[in-house]
Amino acid sequence: MDLMYQSTRDNGKKVFASQAILQGLSSDGGLFVPETLPHLTLSMNELSAMSYQELAYEVMKLFLTDYTEEELKDCINKAYDDKFDTTEIAPLKKAGQTYYLELFHGSTIAFKDMALSILPHLLTTAARKNNVKDEIVILTATSGDTGKAALAGFADVEGTKIIVFYPKNGVSSVQEKQMITQKGDNTDVIGILGNFDDAQTGVKLMFNNKELADRMKNAGYLFSSANSINIGRLVPQIVYYVYAYASLYKKKEVSAGEKINFVVPTGNFGNILAAYYAKCLGIPIDKLICASNENKVLYDFFSTGRYDRNREFVLTSSPSMDILVSSNLERLIYHIAENDSEKTAELMKALSSQGSYDITEKMKEHLNDFVGGWADTEKTKKAIEKVYKESGYVIDTHTAVAASVYESYATNSGDKNKAVIISTASPYKFSENVLKAIYQGEVPEDDYDQAELLSKLSGTNIPSAVEEIHFAPVLHKKVCEVGKMQKFVEDILKII
Ligand SMILES: *Cc1c(COP(=O)(O)O)cnc(C)c1O
Repeated sequence: MDLMYQSTRDNGKKVFASQAILQGLSSDGGLFVPETLPHLTLSMNELSAMSYQELAYEVMKLFLTDYTEEELKDCINKAYDDKFDTTEIAPLKKAGQTYYLELFHGSTIAFKDMALSILPHLLTTAARKNNVKDEIVILTATSGDTGKAALAGFADVEGTKIIVFYPKNGVSSVQEKQMITQKGDNTDVIGILGNFDDAQTGVKLMFNNKELADRMKNAGYLFSSANSINIGRLVPQIVYYVYAYASLYKKKEVSAGEKINFVVPTGNFGNILAAYYAKCLGIPIDKLICASNENKVLYDFFSTGRYDRNREFVLTSSPSMDILVSSNLERLIYHIAENDSEKTAELMKALSSQGSYDITEKMKEHLNDFVGGWADTEKTKKAIEKVYKESGYVIDTHTAVAASVYESYATNSGDKNKAVIISTASPYKFSENVLKAIYQGEVPEDDYDQAELLSKLSGTNIPSAVEEIHFAPVLHKKVCEVGKMQKFVEDILKII
């Protein structure tokens, strides 16, 4: 029997996993959720003897039931190969009394690689299974990180093209360099003379343009998106939570059945939702600690039951978590409403019309697995400094938000469970702010000089992703005005 997916806003429609991956979002605006949550029946002894790839198969096959064993293993092996700089894929490090699950060993040195390395393969396999013959065109607007991870994932994947729009003057110089040096005949990167919202709006207009869709179809193209609400991004993220527990067990750091906590630096709520699904699989997880920066909508939600986006947007030192609408929270809302799609639709309508909603007392009771916390930029900096001073280990600004939140939580709650902090980016990706926290002297201005200094202080090698952009030639020079985005897409695809 296949596990079917249904929309959080309409229980009536059911689709196979591969169809949910192809569609991305349900046509009613809801997100696809599994009809029931599966259980993992393998023992920890069995799981801890597996490689990352073997374990990925055991977890993913429970969710993506309409993929054959051969198809799924093929996707996994193409994704988690030597693009990662360690065969462990997601190594677990111990610093002091705390564990860090390093999810930044892929090609763009941030955790989005964990899902975006496999999504292109899941997507092209889904197209084949559903007899979609069109070439898939991924259109993405990015504020920095997602764009590069999607480019790296889709580059030279047969049957796909990827076009990324980014705000020309709105990303960091490392982020821009990473994108405009991207190789691959099927990749295009365009800087727009506007901000991220302009890029996002332009992309949405193209997605909703029926006339354009018809011309695309005639030319043999189909638009798709790589954003984080696709279950093809969510499911691969469940794997590393199971892997982290299995690694602790293998190292004899936990005894059979011992419960642990996960601390997750959160933005769009995708990563921590995957941890929740791992708990539902039966992995001994107690608390899921949701760490936010100054944009602490989620902290307020977990403390009051009220979600309210009506507030000022704050630019922080952890930019990938600067977000006021955490899209994936809709899935948790649906689960805590006991799969009530009408209730979920009602709350999401309130969110889009008033920017806020309140959950019921009954729903609140189902939130016991979660603890919210937040840290401002100063505390984040202190956390980087403290971890470095105590253990010599260097963490990035996003991971540091989680480290800071965890320290307050452990002190205030007295919770003695072991904790794993999810490390979402390499410190080399945010070297300036990291250096400001651990280095007393003057921080050099040039990115590469910063990387060299960081390497010296941390005793780690400069990742090849950073080496590469230092020498790589610029391959993408297109710049466009906000109103001309569609024209650029039509030119790239040669459609008239
Ligand atoms: C995207 C991102 C996050 C937030 O993850 P969500 O799944 O959106 O909650 C945290 N840290 C880094 C470095 C990221 O790139």
